[in-house]
Amino acid sequence: MIMNVIVPFAYLVATVLFIFSLRWMNDPKTARQAVYAGVLAMAVAVGATWIKPEVVHHLWIVLGIAAGVLLGIPLSRVPLTAVPQRTALSHAFGGAAAGLVGVAYYYLWWSTDPGQLTPFRTTALITENILGFLTFTGSLMAAGKLQEVKWIPQRPVTYKGQNIVNMALLVAAVAVGVWIILNPTTALAARLFPIVIALALLFGILLIIPIGGADMPTVIAILNSYAGLSACALGFVVDNKLLVTAGALDGSSGLILAVIMCKAMNRSFTNVLFGAFGQVKAAAAAGEQKAVKSATPQDVADLLTNADRVVIIPGYGMAVAQAQHRVHELYDQLTKRGVDVKFAIHPVAGRMPGHMNVLLAEADIPYESLVEMDDINPDMPQMDVCLVVGANDVVNPAARHDKGSPIFGMPIIDADKARTIVAIKRSMNPGFAGIDNELYYDDKTLMAFGDAKQVLGDVVKAIAGEGATVH
Ligand code: NAP
Repeated sequence: MIMNVIVPFAYLVATVLFIFSLRWMNDPKTARQAVYAGVLAMAVAVGATWIKPEVVHHLWIVLGIAAGVLLGIPLSRVPLTAVPQRTALSHAFGGAAAGLVGVAYYYLWWSTDPGQLTPFRTTALITENILGFLTFTGSLMAAGKLQEVKWIPQRPVTYKGQNIVNMALLVAAVAVGVWIILNPTTALAARLFPIVIALALLFGILLIIPIGGADMPTVIAILNSYAGLSACALGFVVDNKLLVTAGALDGSSGLILAVIMCKAMNRSFTNVLFGAFGQVKAAAAAGEQKAVKSATPQDVADLLTNADRVVIIPGYGMAVAQAQHRVHELYDQLTKRGVDVKFAIHPVAGRMPGHMNVLLAEADIPYESLVEMDDINPDMPQMDVCLVVGANDVVNPAARHDKGSPIFGMPIIDADKARTIVAIKRSMNPGFAGIDNELYYDDKTLMAFGDAKQVLGDVVKAIAGEGATVH
């Protein structure tokens, strides 16, 4: 009896906490409490499920839970740069779990209680199976591409008629599924069920093959949405209201995130899924050699200390170098000298949404100094120095005027409009889109070559008068 009260109440509390968690994620000031609310919601949801007699009375379920916890601990400790692939792995596990529970329920009811296989329930079962299993293989492929696993090609693999083949597979899976929905309790339906699973698994792999490693973060957001919708459908199958609401929240937030990312890159959904972006990388990277001006850390220190207004534009390179703490030291040194320092944040700088916000927050840089792209752009011509720290595509002026560029139309931070630009990067190698950046060849631009952490450390030392390492 008490179970009938405690468990639904715990599920209600978890649902409310999930909703608040998503709401609080909207603002850096409340993001921390959003994480706590999300963790608490998950703990309440999982805890309420564990105390059910049908769970605690089965040792093998308890062992499964222990294995999951043990696997989760190392996964929670991956570096921030590996978070996209870790997230993809979580979606893979989520999709597989939803799919497997669905399979178990189908065969259980088919053999013991066929009356349970109503058209509504079987429709939910087929839907969650297709979504769950395609999310499983799709997310594994996505994680493999991002982790640069050797036997998974990073470049988009395309062939003639690819979209037709993929669509045909999906249509076949849905068609067999519809047949099962119409005849769920027949012997043939039980034999056809694995075919739906196999087609969904294959579709997941083929869906990801034409997508370059570059577009994976967006695809991961889409797969997140599929995993959520699969869990939502499973909620209808097993009559679990928490799964329905949490799955729907997951499904819709994943979709909203993917739309935001597409908008910030000026790409359409279809372009991400079928555009084979990143294919031209090798050719584009081999552009002709043009002259650039370089600067030493001492030059950069002099420029920065003589400026009134400085804007720092962080990008993926800051994440790779883990240079956020050096950035904070630089911020402290300059603000102490009365220089006005702002951070310009591009919505898709780095490799995941909010990547720069997270890194700068980790280094305790005040939120008030972070300015969104649209708000900082009108002020760029008044900036004395624009310091680009490992950012490339998000400051590439080609996005504004070069119709042939793969990033044409993507909104950028107008770094080129500042009075002087200093770009810190290790080489002239291109960024994510694989294209040259004319900003580096601008007369106003100085290149400070080297690892961002090292260069910034030397700049900070030079400002403090300790002298920098000579490169
Ligand atoms: P980017 O265009 O990928 O450029 C990063 C630059 O950092 C590279 O040119 C690299 O040059 C430099 N770098 C790498 N390691 C470094 C180190 N240790 N020290 C110093 N520099 C280093 O990065 P971005 O400007 O941030 O642009 C993000 C790109 O990712 C955009 O094209 C965006 O569309 C895409 N994207 C983002 C998301 C997202 O959610 N954020 C999702 C999907 C796609 P060197 O090798 O010469 O050092």
